[in-house]
Amino acid sequence: MNNAHIQPDKRDLASFDAEVDLAIKKEQLRQFNKLELIASENYVSNRVLEAAGSVFTNKYAEGYPYKRYYGGCENIDIVETLAIERSAKLFSAECVNVQPHSGSQANMAAYLSLLKPADKIMGMNLSHGGHLTHGAKVNFSGFLFDVVDYGVRKDNNLIDYDEVLSIAQREKPKMIIAGTSAYSRKLDFKIFREIADQVGAFLVTDMAHIAGLVAAGMHPSPIKHSHITTSTTHKTLRGPRGGVIFCDQTLIKKVNSKIFPGIQGGPLCHIIAAKAVAFKEALEPEFKAYASQVIKNASTLANNLIDKGYHIVSGGTDNHMFLVDLRNKNITGKEAERSLDMANITLNKNTVPFETLSPFVTSGVRIGSAALTTRGFKEKDMSIVADYIDQAICCYDDEDKLTKIGQSVSSFAKHFPLFTKFG
Ligand SMILES: *Cc1c(COP(=O)(O)O)cnc(C)c1O
Repeated sequence: MNNAHIQPDKRDLASFDAEVDLAIKKEQLRQFNKLELIASENYVSNRVLEAAGSVFTNKYAEGYPYKRYYGGCENIDIVETLAIERSAKLFSAECVNVQPHSGSQANMAAYLSLLKPADKIMGMNLSHGGHLTHGAKVNFSGFLFDVVDYGVRKDNNLIDYDEVLSIAQREKPKMIIAGTSAYSRKLDFKIFREIADQVGAFLVTDMAHIAGLVAAGMHPSPIKHSHITTSTTHKTLRGPRGGVIFCDQTLIKKVNSKIFPGIQGGPLCHIIAAKAVAFKEALEPEFKAYASQVIKNASTLANNLIDKGYHIVSGGTDNHMFLVDLRNKNITGKEAERSLDMANITLNKNTVPFETLSPFVTSGVRIGSAALTTRGFKEKDMSIVADYIDQAICCYDDEDKLTKIGQSVSSFAKHFPLFTKFG
């Protein structure tokens, strides 16, 4: 009886909870058998998975390294310090907060560091490529602040910086948000800062989608142009799900206090450990090669679709993603998402600029290359992906054909390994 300290029920996950275990195994298979084209997703390494699944999940560590409200923080202090130092080096940033639970939390803390509720903010319209947290009515950013928006030009679907300036001059926002979730061209952060300076606004840049490209030097960095830069860590940056905030010495105290105790309690220590590992990976020379391949793969896929008569919003891509406007193909985004899913290709329907359909239907789909590139896809493989996409869209109402395409897609996907350690 002296082993009462040992958990009496030693069953593992599979024998204790077959339902959750089965769903995890099926999810592994789904990720392996299908082609992942969701622009905001990626596959983390086994090392990142290992850190994210570590015993750090048990730890409370409210506060910041070496200034905690709890005992026993000597190990998380080391790990959080590494995450901060590595990400500061990766992005040439003065100061970093690695505790945001998500990109949305990072944005909330950034805004609250600079503004008071009801202040005016200016972000990109959601249906033009912005994000919910950039002022959408249904989001905290929309109901906490007074929002004006900017968008893309109708003729070329590019951000019109002259228009951004004239809206800013007219509306006098206290903060301008640069950053997108569905925009395939480079952003000019220098111009954004000049506009912000001209109207006395703060510039917050949200580089959630492109952070991996910025880390690799494949997209201009917003850090030195922005008062605060926020990001997710799980998109092109290829880390665990989470957020991160960059700023200089003058703002870090504010940012830290808005994350904790402002909007969060204890940090996710296991995720901070996984972030530290992901930042170390992104500092390796291989990550530059990865990011460069991501861009080559996205443009190969876009060009192949253009050759097949598809309309790409803005005519192409400079980054990891692009939008396909499907109106000339007489299929909605919703129908395309569904038929591609039947063909084992995963992506999301997406509004296009000047959208005429509801967000539940949409006229387009969003496509990204970050996840497939992690699996080892090269340009020639992306041409095959374009063929499969075209086939599935052409026979979108023929379930038998879609199932057949799906079988070919799965056998193709199996040539690209994933999860070597976890099965
Ligand atoms: C994905 C994204 C976010 C939000 O990230 P979550 O982790 O899902 O909260 C914020 N901003 C932009 C531009 C994004 O693309």
